[in-house]
Amino acid sequence: MKIHEYQARELLANAGVPVPAGSMVQSAADAEKAAAKILQTGAAQVVIKAQVHAGGRGKAGFVKVVKSVKEARAAAEFMLTHRMVSPQTGPEGLQVKRLLVAAAVDIAKEYYLAITVDRAANTNTLIASAEGGVEIEAVAARNPQAIKKERLHPILGLQAFQARDLAFALGFKGKQVNQAVSIMTRLAKLFTDSDASLAEINPLIVTPPTATHPDGEVLAIDAKFNFDDNALFRHKNIADLFDPSEENPAELRANEHGLSYVALDGNIGCLVNGAGLAMSTMDIIKLHGGEPANFLDVGGSASEEAVTEAFRIILSDQRVQGVLVNIFGGIMQCDRIARAIVAAAKEVGFQVPLVVRLEGTNVEEARRILSQARREIPMMQSASDLTDAAKKVTAAVAA
Ligand code: GDP
Ligand code: MN
Repeated sequence: MKIHEYQARELLANAGVPVPAGSMVQSAADAEKAAAKILQTGAAQVVIKAQVHAGGRGKAGFVKVVKSVKEARAAAEFMLTHRMVSPQTGPEGLQVKRLLVAAAVDIAKEYYLAITVDRAANTNTLIASAEGGVEIEAVAARNPQAIKKERLHPILGLQAFQARDLAFALGFKGKQVNQAVSIMTRLAKLFTDSDASLAEINPLIVTPPTATHPDGEVLAIDAKFNFDDNALFRHKNIADLFDPSEENPAELRANEHGLSYVALDGNIGCLVNGAGLAMSTMDIIKLHGGEPANFLDVGGSASEEAVTEAFRIILSDQRVQGVLVNIFGGIMQCDRIARAIVAAAKEVGFQVPLVVRLEGTNVEEARRILSQARREIPMMQSASDLTDAAKKVTAAVAA
């Protein structure tokens, strides 16, 4: 699960990581009020930031530093009335419904700091770079030496010596060192305590020296967190941060029915049981020149109603020009799928070719149900195996 920056900043602040004060607003009028409040506290500048589940906002013009309430309002109005297009959004962009209005800070230097799961190394790993702000992928490609990694100990987490080594390697000086160590340590603890899969601060910044802070201050001014969905049951405070309006509506609907659904770009809708079989079904469709429109695993214990809902979701996708049902009934009973096909045919109707391959538990009963319904579902073909199914559906879609 992803959360917004303003929510991530609050988690960081509660964990003791210094973050400039700010608040979330949903209208230009409220943005103006929030900016006025910040300017009254003595801040010289305010930053207005689009809150969407995608990065690259700075380059897209959806992070603006302003000096007056008038400019704050104008920036907010722009962001709330234009879709944000960045390399992370796709060409259609995202609608912006929420803004963060925060005290802006002067920046002497930007760093990158993140903790994520390094699957190859089987450890949580801290990744840091003195070349922050810009896309870390570009730094990794151009200058891999500029990226430092520290593996977290599975029990001890990030150890003090690792944080200090890293702070020096990144070039922090004087009082900055202890501040950076404290931020890394707190971030690592927050990552583990919250079952995060990503905790990223980009940029982590140092402010220019002032009379009160001759070495500058180390602050987090952007934050991105992802969490392990399977651990959310033990973090109600984090589960509560879920923003359904940022999710694909079809994926959301599927989720409510206990189905694993991921929308893709192709035109062949897939209904499969088991993630492994779903993956191989997608592979074999591609092998035969087709493009899957989705990944859909109905699982082993989905009810007839949930499977019917799966058909509703697939058939409501305008791009779907053919449907492939591939079931290997182990726990899932084939007759349940057959009944759902008949129900979906009655209710929504299959306007596109349907290829069905069923094998396993109760397959005889399933075949009987489908052959009885053959007249109502004339576009249905049965397939003998996975290759036959993929060939039939790609041919039907190409026709
Ligand atoms: P992202 O582009 O979506 O990752 O958004 P960020 O929050 O990282 O902002 C992008 C860039 O805007 C940062 O790298 C900074 O250079 C700049 N920026 C963001 N907040 C401030 C601020 O408070 N003061 C100044 N001077 N620049 C800022
Ligand atoms: Mn950023």
